[in-house]
Amino acid sequence: MSNSVRLGIIGEAPPRPESSASGLLTSAPPPEKWDDWVEIEARGWPGRRVEKHYRLVPTTCFNCESACGLLAYVDKETHAIRKFEGNPVHPASRGRLCAKGPATINQINDPDRILYPLRRVGRRGEGKWEKISWQEAMELIAGRIRRALEEGRRNEVVYHVGRPGNEGYVERVLQAWGVDGHNSHTNICSAGARFGYAIWQAYDRPSPDHANAEFILLISAHLESGHYFNPHAQRIIEGKLSGAKLAVMDSRLSNTASMADFWLPTRPGTEPAALLAMARTILEEGLYDREFLRRWVNWEVYLRQMHSDVPVTFEQFISCLKADYAKYTPEYAEAECGVPAATIQQVARRIGRAGHRFAAHNWRGPASGHLGGWQVARTLHFLSILVGAVGTEGGTSPNAWSKFRPQFFDNPPAHDVWNELHFPPEYPLAHYEMSYLLPHFLKEGRGKIDVYFTRVFNPVWTYPDGFSWVEVLDDESKIGLHVALTPTWNETAYWADLVLPMGHGPERHDLNSYETQSGMWIAFRQPVQRVAREHAGQPVQFTYESNPGRVWEEDEFWISLSWQIDPTGQLGVRKHFESPHRPGEMITVDEYYRYIFERVPGLPQAAKAQGLDPLAYMRKYGAFEVHKTTYQRHERHLTNDERAGIEILADSKVVMKAGKALGIEIDGKCVEGFPTPSRRLEFYSQTLVDWKWPEYAIPGYIQSHVHWRELDTERGEFCLLPTFRLPTLIHTRSGAAKWLNEISQSNPLWIHPSDGRRLQLADGDLARVRTEIGYFIDRVWLTEAIRPGVVACSHHLGRWRRREDVPANRFSASIVQISQTEPGKWLVRQVEGPGPFPSPDPDSSRVWWHEGGVPQNLIFPVQPDPISGMHCWHQRVTVERAGPGDHYGDVFVDTNLSHQVYKRWLAKARAGPGPGGLRRPLWMNRPLRPTLDAFPVTGVDRAGSRDAVPSEETWYYMI
Ligand code: SF4
Repeated sequence: MSNSVRLGIIGEAPPRPESSASGLLTSAPPPEKWDDWVEIEARGWPGRRVEKHYRLVPTTCFNCESACGLLAYVDKETHAIRKFEGNPVHPASRGRLCAKGPATINQINDPDRILYPLRRVGRRGEGKWEKISWQEAMELIAGRIRRALEEGRRNEVVYHVGRPGNEGYVERVLQAWGVDGHNSHTNICSAGARFGYAIWQAYDRPSPDHANAEFILLISAHLESGHYFNPHAQRIIEGKLSGAKLAVMDSRLSNTASMADFWLPTRPGTEPAALLAMARTILEEGLYDREFLRRWVNWEVYLRQMHSDVPVTFEQFISCLKADYAKYTPEYAEAECGVPAATIQQVARRIGRAGHRFAAHNWRGPASGHLGGWQVARTLHFLSILVGAVGTEGGTSPNAWSKFRPQFFDNPPAHDVWNELHFPPEYPLAHYEMSYLLPHFLKEGRGKIDVYFTRVFNPVWTYPDGFSWVEVLDDESKIGLHVALTPTWNETAYWADLVLPMGHGPERHDLNSYETQSGMWIAFRQPVQRVAREHAGQPVQFTYESNPGRVWEEDEFWISLSWQIDPTGQLGVRKHFESPHRPGEMITVDEYYRYIFERVPGLPQAAKAQGLDPLAYMRKYGAFEVHKTTYQRHERHLTNDERAGIEILADSKVVMKAGKALGIEIDGKCVEGFPTPSRRLEFYSQTLVDWKWPEYAIPGYIQSHVHWRELDTERGEFCLLPTFRLPTLIHTRSGAAKWLNEISQSNPLWIHPSDGRRLQLADGDLARVRTEIGYFIDRVWLTEAIRPGVVACSHHLGRWRRREDVPANRFSASIVQISQTEPGKWLVRQVEGPGPFPSPDPDSSRVWWHEGGVPQNLIFPVQPDPISGMHCWHQRVTVERAGPGDHYGDVFVDTNLSHQVYKRWLAKARAGPGPGGLRRPLWMNRPLRPTLDAFPVTGVDRAGSRDAVPSEETWYYMI
């Protein structure tokens, strides 16, 4: 029986006659044939049989964070890449890809791609560029960074990353420079969920073991567009094929929800109420795991702090829990969330029945949408903890257990400065940098940036409030030198001083390791044409020699740049980029990865069995499975070596060694536990209490800023869901992929037919959607796949360029005219949609779509959650018919208003310092962690902090 039949998607087909084939078809070429794989040339058909010889070179996809294994078909005659298929030996993707993987070939062959380093000519943002060499570009950048380091301006050199995709590489570079210069996109992505998980267990992400689960609960659309999209989708379906039932909580009937056994279309932001009602049912019906709770939850602290009048016994803990959550009845949840009480109860019982085999996942979704959205992840994990499904087969583990930590040939010391543009005092608990507030901080004069790298990062288009970014990028007194490292043109690069072409996935090196399943794996992203040339006996010194044009890779770029910053070694930078084998010479990428691969457990042995060294093994296969499973790490007994010289704290039983927490003693045994201050799962959070949020000491429900009771539906007010992904697109780089844009081109406004009738809007009509700082004009799509009272718009579309800009992303971008009616009042009008264009690719003359979507994010003010720091994406909007002067795709925004909204949200924060004068709890990590001396505000002794600091080992995993 086919999987589709077993899943109930289609009925059973009538029996077919036996195939005469004798099992010769395979899903992928076997590795032993990768050096010379022969295919019959399709273009010769039917007249000629032409054989083509390929070298199949593995690499990994760079189109999302999953790093699925690609197999590049490199023509052995020309070294051109012909196509990409899946790498069958990659442990996570197992030969399968989503649509975006094979479409990498479109990005490689993009007729508009940037092929050479460019320097702006004329005013910044004017759209004029000249071609320069890599040497010229690096001299310009290195000279500026050198001056900043010599003058002690270590907070003025900033690397701001959009899509990361490597393991600690750039963090090591920044440490070598001694700057607090790491900024990321996490706070517009997953900070809400991360905080919700971190406050329980320190590890800030979940790793659900879908394949072995009996019941799966997904918050949002992880089957079609999750963070680990293709690897997770495979395993969710595997779980279902083995009998697991699936529940999906989503206000939209996504493709994922359509595959679910239970769809829970909660009113946006009310999810914690539904999850707490499930928790209550599990408690009331005795479906919890008593032993797991007793051992692993910090219930004694909870009783002492919140119920000091009762004896500290486990039975009292359960009764107090029941009392504290008594109000979350299924009926209350139904009234609040709009999901039937019976469904909530049914799902809760299924979770209880699944017990240790309950897998759950939240990455973005509502945790990224709402004020207090972090409680979605916190209350979801509460369910996993109640039924003991943490770290179990079929349960949900901390992500870190599946993540490989590389050993580097050299470890520069941590820096000792603190950059308040990234970690401002108002948000001491933020996960992590408050990156989307940067324009407002710069406008307020909180600091300035001298050298600003935007790396695969496009905030003008992907972030809220894009024109505030334009305003600061346009101002050279705020941002001195803007260097855009990018494989494709993007809206932010138009305001750069240097645009430096970086490779797509098959044109660069990176090490990847992600928590896609219960095991641990590594994969090697490599420049496939370079590998093919080297196999053919053509040595390549730098990767740009084998890539198209002068497209480079960042690994070699950072090494060369660091060398140029400190040519004499006087600054102490150069030594961190010298070869471990050739003293005084620059390290090569081969040497860098050889050192790491030689230290991967099991890899040297696996390589030797094949007659290879570890680097050659990774170049040949592209991936290696380090551990098949990684369950139950919290129960790991500390080794004899670890236990030598330990001290066990009397009250908490935390195991200390050399001032660092190493584990916990439970039932007389010293085990690893979790890297929280208590080493247990923290139901009661002393951290939240200590850092001025005592009302959230235990998991709860915070009413959203777009709560349904606050919306005036008669006036056309709705909650707008602007964050959902389309399975076929990514943020910026899919704009250059013709196949993907032929599938999805526009982002209409989803409206329920009942709301459409009320507003007299029909399918395809133009609607004006207003926030408090502006409006956009979009087409209406009437659909029953959205809750009444809620509207939705996908965030992938609406790419744009101005007439004066270099032609770019022409499969997706509209030409716009941007005008300022008054300072801060910006109007964007689309003057031409996508359409056919001449290029060497004949398909470019076949573009049949003419509307490219609306850049809705431009009209979203920044809305920082005061605790997690997450930008609360969901918007209170008014929807009305478009007026006679409105055009499809119009966007108007007032950045003066956006600054006022920023101030209003800033006032919700409760600024540090916390205990011990700390800027941030010591146990909470930062992506680029400074020395402990940088944590207290100046002149304060950090001894007043109660934090038990985990060992450095754990820091790596906690970001
Ligand atoms: S899920 Fe798709 S886009 Fe993401 S890495 Fe895999 S193939 Fe690429």
